[in-house]
Amino acid sequence: RVAYEIHSELGRVNAGGKIPLGLKKKSLRIVVTGGAGFVGSHLVDRLMVRGDSVIVVDNFFTGRKENVMHHLGNPRFELIRHDVVEPILLEVDQIYHLACPASPVHYKFNPVKTIKTNVVGTMNMLGLAKRVGARFLLTSTSEVYGDPLQHPQVETYWGNVNPIGVRSCYDEGKRTAETLTMDYHRGLGIEVRIARIFNTYGPRMCIDDGRVVSNFVAQALRKEPLTVYGDGKQTRSFQYVSDLVEGLMQLMEGEHVGPFNLGNPSEFTMLELAQVVQETIDSNAKIEFRPNTEDDPHKRKPDISKAKELLGWEPVVSLRDGLPHMVSDFRQRIFGDEKGSGA
Ligand code: NAD
Ligand code: UDP
Repeated sequence: RVAYEIHSELGRVNAGGKIPLGLKKKSLRIVVTGGAGFVGSHLVDRLMVRGDSVIVVDNFFTGRKENVMHHLGNPRFELIRHDVVEPILLEVDQIYHLACPASPVHYKFNPVKTIKTNVVGTMNMLGLAKRVGARFLLTSTSEVYGDPLQHPQVETYWGNVNPIGVRSCYDEGKRTAETLTMDYHRGLGIEVRIARIFNTYGPRMCIDDGRVVSNFVAQALRKEPLTVYGDGKQTRSFQYVSDLVEGLMQLMEGEHVGPFNLGNPSEFTMLELAQVVQETIDSNAKIEFRPNTEDDPHKRKPDISKAKELLGWEPVVSLRDGLPHMVSDFRQRIFGDEKGSGA
């Protein structure tokens, strides 16, 4: 909406008429809630490179200052410790709303807080969008499809979600966040975007967040067995974080509200994933079967035709290409050196 300012050829509309001819990219003021987290910090990096002014709002529940520390001292960057469950007053053009724990271990840790973050936190950020006329992007999730009865999942599928299960604070919370987003859009004319993100991996993921890719990578590096839950035949589709960030920015800048599935359609069973991790890190890594968690979706794979057609977006990084980047980041964080010798 405000990405470009058109300057008149003679500079008549600009005081002094000193601005050069043609299109000039206008720097935006952008707030990224959850910007100290895994996805948020990569998004912040891209926005900073683009020349925007970025405010990160984060309560550091799962995020880390280290993820954004390299921007401290830059006058275009601001870091605010704040919980989105409380209102905040800011003057911004765009809001990327990511604040919410994303891994099952974290969101089940305090389910009431998780649903409050999704419902009250989203309302607060939509309220902010309304007050200052900002465009609002919600990072929803593939979990809104629950344990899907349709495969792959298309945006028109309404999902199969347990409203009273242990995952409900997250998946029903995100479904409500989507509802709020659409109601603010339809009822109050707020400009909104909705992304439904599928499993994403990459550098800066929390090492012990219990998600399957971080577990397998950390386990293989620590010479521990890879813990496969259930029979390991359940599937997920893994997207590298740079592909997601590209998709989020294209969605924000584009014309379409969504929801859009943002994910990599290459589908793997957990046993296949374990094999890729073995090939990448340690071919001798053992596999250990563990009982599966409650309400675990059996399969998940995005249909991304809508994003391809309307956003011109699709992922370009395969699991085998993306995984080594995450492995070197984990190696460094676990052992403190590049080779991972632990020495
Ligand atoms: P993350 O846990 O690394 O990041 C979440 C960030 O939000 C953290 O920095 C955390 O401290 C912050 N946060 C949590 N509650 C907050 C609160 N009440 N107030 C302020 N800050 C708060 O997770 P992520 O993987 O980067 O996920 C980012 C977003 O993307 C989340 O909304 C998540 O639901 C969504 N998403 C992620 C994935 C994925 O695979 N990574 C998949 C689907 C959806
Ligand atoms: N999983 C596994 N071993 C682990 C952690 C998870 O086999 O150490 C399985 C889990 O049961 C699920 C899949 O991996 O079927 C993805 O789990 P994750 O928590 O990463 O994400 P989500 O369930 O939210 O898609």
